[in-house]
Order: sequence, then C-alpha cells, then structure tokens
Amino acid sequence: MIRTEQKHELRQRLSEFMTEEEPLAPKTAFKTGGAAAIYLQPADLTELLLAVKTLAELKLGFLILGGGRNLLIADDGIRNKVVISLSRGFMDYEIVGSDKHSVMIRAEAGVSLAALVNLSGVGGYGGLENLAGIPGSLGGAIAMNAGAFGSTIFDHLAALWVLHDGGLCWRSPASLNPGYRDGGLGGQDIVVAAYLILPRKPVQEIVAKVNEIRSQRWRRLPQGAHAGSVFKNPDGNFAGRLLESAGCKGLRCGGAKVAVEHANVIVAEDTATSQDIIDLMESMQASVRQHCGTILQPEIRVFS
Ligand SMILES: Cc1cc2nc3c(=O)[nH]c(=O)nc-3n(C[C@H](O)[C@H](O)[C@H](O)COP(=O)(O)OP(=O)(O)OC[C@H]3O[C@@H](n4cnc5c(N)ncnc54)[C@H](O)[C@@H]3O)c2cc1C
Repeated sequence: MIRTEQKHELRQRLSEFMTEEEPLAPKTAFKTGGAAAIYLQPADLTELLLAVKTLAELKLGFLILGGGRNLLIADDGIRNKVVISLSRGFMDYEIVGSDKHSVMIRAEAGVSLAALVNLSGVGGYGGLENLAGIPGSLGGAIAMNAGAFGSTIFDHLAALWVLHDGGLCWRSPASLNPGYRDGGLGGQDIVVAAYLILPRKPVQEIVAKVNEIRSQRWRRLPQGAHAGSVFKNPDGNFAGRLLESAGCKGLRCGGAKVAVEHANVIVAEDTATSQDIIDLMESMQASVRQHCGTILQPEIRVFS
C-alpha cells in the first residue's frame, strides 16, 4: 500500500503529470481490472527522470504500462506500486540516416508498432512486415520481444536508449540477451527510445506482404476483448495445439471464455473480471498438464 505521506510527497512533486485512482481497464486489451492508486504520465524525458528519481527517494516501485495489449490488471488495481505510462510523450519517430540499401529510424517507446509498419510501407523500408497487426507500443514490443511468423522486433534493432537505475544509458540489443517473448530488460528498466535499421524494398512488395500477414492474422483470431496468445509455445510445440487436444476450446470461468477459433486465446466478455481470466488460465494449464504433462508458461503479464 502506498502510504499517505508518500502520496502527499508525490502530489507536491509530480502533480503536473499525476492522477490518482486512474482506471486501468480501458487501457488494456481485456478491459478488466481495477485502478492505479498513483498514475504518472510524463510528457517528456525531464518529467520521466523526475518521476523515477522521486520514486527512488520514496522507495516506491513502479510498473510501466505500454499499450496494455499483453497485460492483465488485478481486480483490486495497483495499490503498492506506481504505474508509469509513456503514452503522453514519447510518440516521435524520424528517419535519422539512410543509404541506398537501408534507413535508420529513431522511434520513441510510446510509438505504436502499427505506425512503424505503416511508415515502412509508405517509405519502402522492409523488415517489419511479419509484425503487421501486432498491437501495442514499440516499448512494449521490445520488453516482450514481440514477434510473429518467424520474425521478432529484435531482428531490426540497432540500439536502445534505456533508463536504468535512474540514469540513461545505451544498450546494444544483444547485451539484453533477449529470449522468446522476453526482451531481457531488468524489472525497473524503461525503454525510452530505439534505433531500427530497415532494408530498402519496393513499396508494392511490402504492402502486399503486410496485407497478406494482416489477413492471415484476422482469420485466426476471434472477435471481442482479448490479448492474443495467453501461453507461450513450449519447445517444439504449439500451446494452441496442446490446449485444443486437451479439450479447452469453449471452456469458461465466469465471463472469461476460451475462444472456439483459437484454444490459446481467452475472450473477456463484458461481465468478465481479471480473476475469471486467471482462474481460466489455471484450468487451461491443469488440463494440458493432465493431458500430456506439459506445464504451459503464461505469455500474458499480470500486474498486481
Ligand atoms: C489481438 C492481439 C494479437 C497479438 N498478437 C501478438 C503476436 O502475434 N505476437 C506477439 O509477440 N504478441 C502479440 N500480442 C501481444 C501484444 O500485442 C504484444 O506483447 C505487445 O508487444 C505488447 O505491447 P504493449 O505496448 O501493449 O505492452 P504492454 O502490454 O503495455 O506491456 C507488456 C510488458 O512490456 C512492458 N513495457 C511496456 N512498455 C515498456 C517500456 N517502454 N519500457 C519497459 N517495459 C515496457 C510492460 O511493463 C509489460 O511488462 C497480441 C495482442 C493482441 C491484443
């Protein structure tokens, strides 16, 4: 619980960009969960540095909210930590270098992956086609090492600008040692901006590929509020296939239901709570464990 005197101090120092009891459900794909006791939306690096320094002085931890496309927020909200969102500032991107083979783009963490895919289609910069249709921000994509169809965001990163222990530092992507759906960032590291190198390609080729990927994606995914895959694929297999063989399609807990179109996707109906989703995830895990002994690991991150 954030103490009254800590709240008082935060109000004194960060009121320009702080709100209290900010509802988080509308900011997530599942549209469930409670409010953030303290919510910070710094408009620029100066405010972000001030926020992180103040939180360190008050010995308060924080969670970073990107586009909220891979998050489940606890029903009673975030009471012990401060939530920081980079969606107010940190939305710029620009081409900072080019030659006849490639371009270098600098993009801030709040920029949506969709905006970068669109930019690459318009300008004839390839490489991001397989990521078309992955919702969320660049910062979230890096934290999650988001990917699809054999590509990931890390394939195109040249350098990262990360806030670590209150100080800004450059990181090479390899130094983070990224893994499957895990960018390898430390728990309190914040991606502020990244440099991507994209090879030049004919615009028509990029647009055709992006359209093909988007339509494949929409064919596979259900309608409604969901956050894409719930579990990571285990080595050499697909979580969806294991869940389907274990009979999980259509399984339900309260307002949360396993999609009939895709056994690794949970759709949250209007009445769903985050606890319904957690209970359903536990039943899905138990079904697969009983069926074939595999223990599925969640891809979705739970904030509590
Ligand atoms: C319809 C649908 C389809 C999807 N398909 C795919 C897919 O094909 N492949 C795939 O990989 N994912 C997929 N996802 C999941 C999701 O889109 C990705 O994980 C995405 O990268 C999350 O980005 P976000 O900005 O929403 O991050 P959030 O959900 O807000 O956060 C995810 C994690 O990233 C951290 N984070 C966010 N921003 C920063 C930052 N600036 N610095 C440090 N940490 C940060 C958060 O703290 C959290 O731990 C899908 C989701 C949906 C809803």
